[in-house]
Amino acid sequence: MGLIVQKYGGTSVGTAERIRTVAARLLATQRAGHDVVAVISAMAGVTDNLIKLAKEIAPEPSARELDLLLSTGEQGASALTAMAVNALGGKAVSLSGAAAGIVTDGAHTKARISHISPRQIQELLAEDYIVIVAGFQGQSPDGAITTLGRGGSDLTAIALAAALKADDCQIFTDVDGVHTCDPRVVPEARKIDEVAYDELLEMAGAGAKVIQSRAVEFAKKFGIGFEVRSSLKDEPGTKATAAPSNLEDWVVRGVSLERNQAKVTISGVPDRPGCAGKIFTALAAANLSLDVIVQNASSTGTTDLSFTLNKDELALTQRALEPLVKEIGAAGLTASMGVAKLSVVGIGMRSHAAVASRLFACLGEAGVNIQLISTSEIKITVVINESDLERAAQVTHAAFGLARPHMPPPSA
Ligand code: ASP
Ligand code: MG
Repeated sequence: MGLIVQKYGGTSVGTAERIRTVAARLLATQRAGHDVVAVISAMAGVTDNLIKLAKEIAPEPSARELDLLLSTGEQGASALTAMAVNALGGKAVSLSGAAAGIVTDGAHTKARISHISPRQIQELLAEDYIVIVAGFQGQSPDGAITTLGRGGSDLTAIALAAALKADDCQIFTDVDGVHTCDPRVVPEARKIDEVAYDELLEMAGAGAKVIQSRAVEFAKKFGIGFEVRSSLKDEPGTKATAAPSNLEDWVVRGVSLERNQAKVTISGVPDRPGCAGKIFTALAAANLSLDVIVQNASSTGTTDLSFTLNKDELALTQRALEPLVKEIGAAGLTASMGVAKLSVVGIGMRSHAAVASRLFACLGEAGVNIQLISTSEIKITVVINESDLERAAQVTHAAFGLARPHMPPPSA
């Protein structure tokens, strides 16, 4: 018994049939004795279509109008879900983000939640309603509808779980949970039972897009535990917490992959203060987000600087950098597509030195050439040829023993 927040993503409410399945699950949860708050995403494809339509009408639609438009996707799906519950003989009401008391700043299309006044939700719960909240949206202090960035329904769910002091927060999606690697690439990949927020953040950043990164950051900040699980099955998924309780100490929790990368190298950069500052200021001004940034030690008074970014942003990057290369007196700019990132992630790495050697050795044995390396406390990333990615993923997954099943917890 307790209060449960359940979030359903776009594919989980993608058809009338699936909305009925969601409604049945909400009712079953309520009948099991819980108070139920559901957060609903737009039906699959709806947000993309609305964006496309807006861009056909205006190449750069105003962010305020875009928010009003996009918020309708979630509102429609929420109303339909409430209708489905009612049609099954239950009692549900749907609320827009604003009606649910979600107040944000005024940064349209990427608003931040400033506070939530859940009074109306609580009153409705007290009257035994299943309360269905449109995800991804809130209201600015001056009353305009705002949205929380792509994938923002996850954030709605976690923030509501925090505001309502929910006993449980379940993120229902079209996958079984978080996996040790992409199962399409590594068939032996397993579902992970428990993951640390920090691991999930590193994995989400590196392509395991099961949940919005901002939502995980929020969960981490306020210590909100949640579970990612499948809406199509009735099986436990992956639980995210500050420190997973697995007694078995997984040094590496998973291998994450990111394709569609490009690598840029500025060669012969004069080795004096200010050059890197100039380069990255120009890139930031063009709103480019970069990853893996590596600079060589200089021996001859110049250095090489490399970084990766999404390949779609390569042309823009080259345009931003070409004048600068001359200005700072660098030797040249080279760019290559067809690269990918592979990362091993795990909080257990903090206390294990041998992770890097094992990773590099297994890639070497498989004949995979490493172009760039970067590390954080809980992640090692290598940049390799995209054509090597699948093989690299398979050997890395095997080298860290990730396919072996979890040991059962020791009996009390
Ligand atoms: N419908 C929005 C999107 O597609 C928000 C969400 O699904 O969480 O990004
Ligand atoms: Mg989503």
